[in-house]
Amino acid sequence: MAASVSLARIEKVYGTKRTLNNVSLEVAAGEFLTLVGPSGCGKSTLLRIIAGLTPHDSGQVHIGERDVTALPARDRNVSMVFQSYALYPHMTVAENIATPLRMQRLPAMARIPLIGRFWPGSRKLRARIAQEVATVAAQVEIENLLHSRPAQLSGGQRQRVAVARAMVKQPGVFLMDEPLSNLDARLRVHMRAEISALHQRTGATFIYVTHDQVEAMTLSTRVAVVMDGCIVQVGTPRELYDDPQDIRVARFIGSPEMNILAITSNSPHRAWLKDASIQLPVQAADTVHMGFRPEHLKLADRSTHYGAHTLRIPALFERIEVLGHDALLFCRHPDSQETIVARAPVADVDQMRSRGNGWDKLTFEIDLAQTFWFDAQGSRLPPATSVCEILPLHKRVS
Ligand code: ADP
Ligand code: MG
Repeated sequence: MAASVSLARIEKVYGTKRTLNNVSLEVAAGEFLTLVGPSGCGKSTLLRIIAGLTPHDSGQVHIGERDVTALPARDRNVSMVFQSYALYPHMTVAENIATPLRMQRLPAMARIPLIGRFWPGSRKLRARIAQEVATVAAQVEIENLLHSRPAQLSGGQRQRVAVARAMVKQPGVFLMDEPLSNLDARLRVHMRAEISALHQRTGATFIYVTHDQVEAMTLSTRVAVVMDGCIVQVGTPRELYDDPQDIRVARFIGSPEMNILAITSNSPHRAWLKDASIQLPVQAADTVHMGFRPEHLKLADRSTHYGAHTLRIPALFERIEVLGHDALLFCRHPDSQETIVARAPVADVDQMRSRGNGWDKLTFEIDLAQTFWFDAQGSRLPPATSVCEILPLHKRVS
């Protein structure tokens, strides 16, 4: 049965370093929630605290209705899959998968090699365990590997064994710590689909840890972004992409990352970007940050007319990376030298080139509705409302 997970004010200190700071999170039964964040932000520590493998300093963990804060790992109704798979090298695949059930169901004497077989009732229990192992092995398609040892398997096969070992207990909650990061790119995409299917088939709650935002966005019903030991924002993948509340989330979600320009606001409601003045809806302090995604920039023709909601962004072209259908244009802002990356269909780029427009200086257009504004501390501001171009003197018509 899927179980909900509730974390309340979790704190963890290693030495003098606060690794987790007042972390609270509600995960619904049956949900696929991903903890995503850069390396070292505290994801694994948090997952191990949920599993009961790492003690924490204060705060409560509930699984279902139960307060499990003081319970050992084996009593928590969870299974964990580790990045390293942690398979026993001297055991066969079948024995590896059977281990959690043997620990749970066989008395210590019945687990002793050879002698244990003669323990009363042991044969029946072992037969039942073998049957359950065969069932999960079939589900992850490794029935033909049951007698192999881990050293004889490929990375993907070992990963499946680790997943089968987690499945065999039929836990209410699966905890997965970067389970795909040791696989090559192709296999990772394949295993992503398998983990999704596993979630659907079992209906269990999944809490998945990754540093890879693409993995987080593609697998999850909801994503919690972890930075410096805090959960900065929790939302559906769409919400995090469309509505980041913090500049760190804005930068972390989306690939290539969001462009950010620091902009001086020298009058209370205006920001200036070269020759354009942008109406801000809030009283902004000295510096605000304007963010915009590479995929929302459009290559502008210098003659295009533009309205009150279109902003022009000048850029000095540096290099192009062709991805196939799209290309990434790497540029710099002519004044601040900040990096600007644009994603454009290769066809548009070719068209620009064929018109013989100069490549060193480009102009991009962006709809103001697709810009994100952040204050100096990185908190999201309401949207900017209009832009007006202040033409340079020589272009003004008298
Ligand atoms: P992540 O999984 O997000 O990469 P971790 O949870 O592994 O991050 O680690 C978070 C921080 O806690 C890191 O700075 C790490 O050095 C520290 N840390 C983790 N485990 C230990 C430990 N056993 N002893 C001391 N510091 C640790
Ligand atoms: Mg980790």
